[in-house]
Amino acid sequence: MWCWSVLCLSWYPGEGMTLQQIAGDDWQDFERKHVWHPYASMVSPAPMFAVQRAEGVRLFLEDGRVLIDGMSSWWCAIHGYNVPELNAAATAQMQKMSHVMFGGLTHEPAARLAARLLEIAPDCMQHVFFADSGSVSVEVAIKMALQFWQAQGCEQKSRLLTIRHGYHGDTFGAMGVCDPVSGMHHLFARMLPEHLFADAPTACTDADWDTKGGDEAQIADFRDKIETHRGELAAVILEPIVQGAGGMRFYAPEFLRRVRTLCDANDVLLILDEIATGFGRTGRMFACEFAGIEPDIMCVGKALTGGYMTMAAVLTTARVVQGVHADANGEGAVLMHGPTFMANPLACAVALASINLLLASPWQQRVAEIEAQLKRELEPCRALPGVSDVRVLGAIGVVEMCEPVDMALVQPMFVELGVWLRPFGKLIYTMPPFIVDSKELRVITNAMNEVASVLSKSP
Ligand SMILES: *Cc1c(COP(=O)(O)O)cnc(C)c1O
Repeated sequence: MWCWSVLCLSWYPGEGMTLQQIAGDDWQDFERKHVWHPYASMVSPAPMFAVQRAEGVRLFLEDGRVLIDGMSSWWCAIHGYNVPELNAAATAQMQKMSHVMFGGLTHEPAARLAARLLEIAPDCMQHVFFADSGSVSVEVAIKMALQFWQAQGCEQKSRLLTIRHGYHGDTFGAMGVCDPVSGMHHLFARMLPEHLFADAPTACTDADWDTKGGDEAQIADFRDKIETHRGELAAVILEPIVQGAGGMRFYAPEFLRRVRTLCDANDVLLILDEIATGFGRTGRMFACEFAGIEPDIMCVGKALTGGYMTMAAVLTTARVVQGVHADANGEGAVLMHGPTFMANPLACAVALASINLLLASPWQQRVAEIEAQLKRELEPCRALPGVSDVRVLGAIGVVEMCEPVDMALVQPMFVELGVWLRPFGKLIYTMPPFIVDSKELRVITNAMNEVASVLSKSP
């Protein structure tokens, strides 16, 4: 009790502050003291940059500075900000309804978005479950896999197999399949189910895709685990080709092809998490296209609404749907999930407009141009002593440092250089909006070169 009140007094200097009092110029100060940020300390908050508005690839800060956005707001805003087509879709839908419950009711935006998603997704995808965030879609995908086997009387098939360096979200089911080291396993070990982790394939650049992918040693541990545990495995879950928040690693399509073959041979479903890779980011609409394989269950999110609002979806096959409802126990099996904001009409309308805008644009050419420029302009970083690797795939450019990046030092440096980049761990990376032009991208790559070079000099 004593500790608690001392703590409160020491870091709630705004105690007694009323809503009216903060309505003025003090809101940034109030925010700093009371509002949590992702993976950040609430007791000693890092400096924040307040954004007043955003347009195209630019973020306009409250203090008047303008930044070129190299992050697409955590990889979502593929068309940039304040996009006329998306604004129009949101406004038109809002005038009809922003939301209605999806239990017992339905609406045209959900139907049209589902149709569009199934049209662009791998052929065998036939059904759509709308979820409210990427993590939740991973939970739903896992439930689908578990219920699939349960409904057929195979209750023992209840574990998942994945590879190291993965990231699938922050909710409990998703955390259970995140990398056990870089994920949060040590904090929540007692609460997390024990899934299986196989060695990840070697990270590669496109130049060595063919050679590394053909190597049997890459898949040996995965093969061993799936064959040994097939009787207890419901599904394999992976990010195809690009492992994102677990390390920005690219791996060979051949590995994914072998995973597909092993899943089939061992009666295990394959869940592909395309939340980061979907909607053109890698140069293909979905990254599984590199391997020419199709999943049993697929998660999409992030760029789904072009970064306008939170929404994700789980796509699946007719076989999985039939399996889930097979009902070996005679209890009328249905998928046990239903978020309050399921298939939110506003999000559906904007997502449909975003996909239409993508399809109407020369996105493949744009992403290929971004890829070529990133390769050209990030390559000089490789020669710096503090840099351990430079890799580029589609509109993803990564400079991996030898040591973890000091954010307190680096974040203001990027802002000073006029760009918004947010490194993590040893990784300085960019995933710009597809509408970035070559001059703007040049500002981003210059900043990455500059910061990597300063970090290479500091002891
Ligand atoms: C971001 C991400 C998630 C989680 O999505 P949220 O919308 O943040 O819950 C899951 N999987 C991958 C691959 C991601 O990149």
